Formats: sequence, C-alpha cells, structure tokens
Amino acid sequence: MEDRASSTTPGTSADELERAVRRGELVPYFQAEYDLASGRPVAFEALSRWLHPERGLVMPDRFIAIAERTGLIGDLGRTILVQAGRRVADWHRRGRRVGLAVNVSPSQLRPEFASTMVQFVRALGLPEWTVTAEITETPALSETCDEVETMQALIAGGVGVSVDDFGSGFTSLESLERLPFTEVKIDRSLMRRPGPEADALALDAVAVARSRQAVVVAEGIETAQDVDRAKAWGCDRGQGFFFSAAVPAEDVERLLAAV
Ligand code: C2E
Ligand code: MG
Ligand code: MG
Repeated sequence: MEDRASSTTPGTSADELERAVRRGELVPYFQAEYDLASGRPVAFEALSRWLHPERGLVMPDRFIAIAERTGLIGDLGRTILVQAGRRVADWHRRGRRVGLAVNVSPSQLRPEFASTMVQFVRALGLPEWTVTAEITETPALSETCDEVETMQALIAGGVGVSVDDFGSGFTSLESLERLPFTEVKIDRSLMRRPGPEADALALDAVAVARSRQAVVVAEGIETAQDVDRAKAWGCDRGQGFFFSAAVPAEDVERLLAAV
C-alpha cells in the first residue's frame, strides 16, 4: 500500500500515473543517434514524456521510478513501444529507414515479452534489426534468470538488445562478457569523466563489443570535443544535445526532411 500512496514528486501518485497511461498522456519523444562517420541521423531513441494537463511536460525522472515500483512499467513501456513503432513504420513507408530504440526495464523481461515484441515489430512490417530494446543492467539481471533468455529470444527474433548506461555504476566489463547483446551504450557519465581511466574503460567496452560484432553508441555528446573523444574510443554512433535533444515526432519529420 505504501507504494501506491508514496511519490517522489508532490502530486504524483501511482493512481494518477495509471490514469495518465490509460488516457494516453504518456508519449514518446525522439532523440537522434548520429552515425559518427557520415554525420547523419540513423536511429532514434524513444524517451517517454508525460504531457500532464496541468503541469505540462513531465520528465521521466519524475515517474519511471514510480512505474517500476508499482508494476506500471509494463503498461507504460507498451504504450511507448506502440506509439513509437507506428511512427517509425510510417517513416519507413516514406523512405526514411531509421532505427528505433525503446527502453525496457529488466522487470519487463518475462518469457512472453520477447515473442510479443517480435510479433509487434513484424506486424508493423519493419525489417529485422530496425528496433532495439535498451536494457539498463541492474544487480537483478542475472545469467541464471528469465531475463537473459528473454534477451536471447529478442535477438533470435531480429530485435536488437542494447546494454544501456555502460559505465554508470552497475554495468561492468564482466557483465558485458556474460550478457547477450547487439549494442552497447556508453553512459554520459563516462563522457563527463576526464582522464585515462574513463578512456580505458570505454576502449575496453568497445573491444568487447567488437568481438561480438555489436554497435557502440556514445551518449551525452554535448560538444565537438565529445564527438572527437567518442570517435577516439571507436564508437559508431553518438547521441546528445550537441546533435539534438529529444523532440516530438513532428520535429523528427522536419529533421529527416532536412537531411
Ligand atoms: P536513458 O535511456 O539513458 O536516456 C538518455 C537520457 O539522457 C535521456 O533523459 C536524454 O534526454 C538524456 N540526454 C541525452 N543527451 C544528453 C546530453 O547530451 N546531456 C545530458 N546531460 N543528458 C542527455 P530522459 O529523457 O530524462 O530519460 C531518463 C531515463 O529515463 C532514460 O535514460 C531511461 O533510463 C528512462 N526512460 C525514459 N523513457 C523510458 C521508457 O519508456 N521506459 C523505461 N523503462 N525507461 C525510460
Ligand atoms: Mg536508453
Ligand atoms: Mg542511457
């Protein structure tokens, strides 16, 4: 009961969030991932935003933790995947063949999750490897659990699996070694950390990713120097405010029309 009544923000209760999900107030914004060699946007990460009727735009740090604690994260993830998937399918129909990344909480990684997601992506007519599930590693994600099998099943079904927030605390080189993945996302905290230690960790992550033919994305690219550092690490893609913040779908259409 305590979870349902508690909130990290005054005024945000689990009941209110549940109603918001039902009413369609949770929508995806899209942040571009740029190919560092060509300088073009090649994929978009769907980041949820709550379009609150009174409070305006509410950021995920105000509601994802509540959704995780109360089990709403599954419904929230579904509504974001459905809306973002339809948008990207529409862009593909119009010749813009970009990738889509959605965030998936480890608690969503139940055995049926992979088949549901794979079927949904196929029903949209999107080619294999267009959609990637970004999963942040937590101590709960263990190799003996359903979670890893679900990650394997996603990959078997042509859905990419990204290890999100690498270098942010929980993820380590050991966890990379034992997890199935097709992409690694280097956390922005590593980009903000100067010095050879951060460089060595990023270079090691890139080496592990390379040995698996996985893509490497650097997050938190805020300056031209960050672009150079990501390239020096050997990253394939960059994401961050230097390129673009997360924007509504209509703005992506303008961005794609301009390149
Ligand atoms: P994330 O998946 O690591 O997403 C990247 C976050 O970094 C986003 O914050 C993005 O706006 C922010 N960011 C991007 N570029 C820069 C930059 O250059 N500098 C800085 N300082 N920040 C940058 P956002 O949108 O607030 O999302 C926060 C987190 O909430 C996400 O981190 C993700 O873990 C979670 N999240 C968002 N949407 C969903 C969702 O639909 N489902 C789940 N399970 N989690 C979500
Ligand atoms: Mg992410
Ligand atoms: Mg991240």
